[in-house]
Amino acid sequence: MWSYILNQKADVVKPGDDEYFMRMALAEAQKAADRDEVPVGAVIVAGKIIISRAHNLTETLNDPTAHAEMQAITAAASYLGGKYLTDCTLYVTVEPCIMCAGALAWSQVSAIVYGAPDEKKGYTTTGVPILHPKTVVRSGVLAKECSLIMKKFFKKKRE
Ligand code: ZN
Repeated sequence: MWSYILNQKADVVKPGDDEYFMRMALAEAQKAADRDEVPVGAVIVAGKIIISRAHNLTETLNDPTAHAEMQAITAAASYLGGKYLTDCTLYVTVEPCIMCAGALAWSQVSAIVYGAPDEKKGYTTTGVPILHPKTVVRSGVLAKECSLIMKKFFKKKRE
């Protein structure tokens, strides 16, 4: 019975939870997949409110820098009217690359929450502290879902 109650609890995701915002980022990743873009999505949250949503647009814009995080940072800074995201949390479905980690460092974002690790191009593969020293990182949130959408996309590409 207790396990039943605990499971019930685990299923309830409230706005403000990491999983809730990661699902919003996943919805963005799906938008990317629908446009035949590598499915990575991101949202930036300030005070439990989503202030920007973005997905990868490198093909659509013919721009190798048009990663979900870059789009989300630009939109959030524009919304806030300032270049620092010091009271914001970025949710992204896949571990940021070195470029995006660098941009996030410049933004001084408070927290980064990512889903699936990127063992090839993730910023942690460098072993270099790229992020702002005050930025908190949480990883592995809905990692399975975040990685599954990528796997599905690349499988379809190979067919
Ligand atoms: Zn990137």
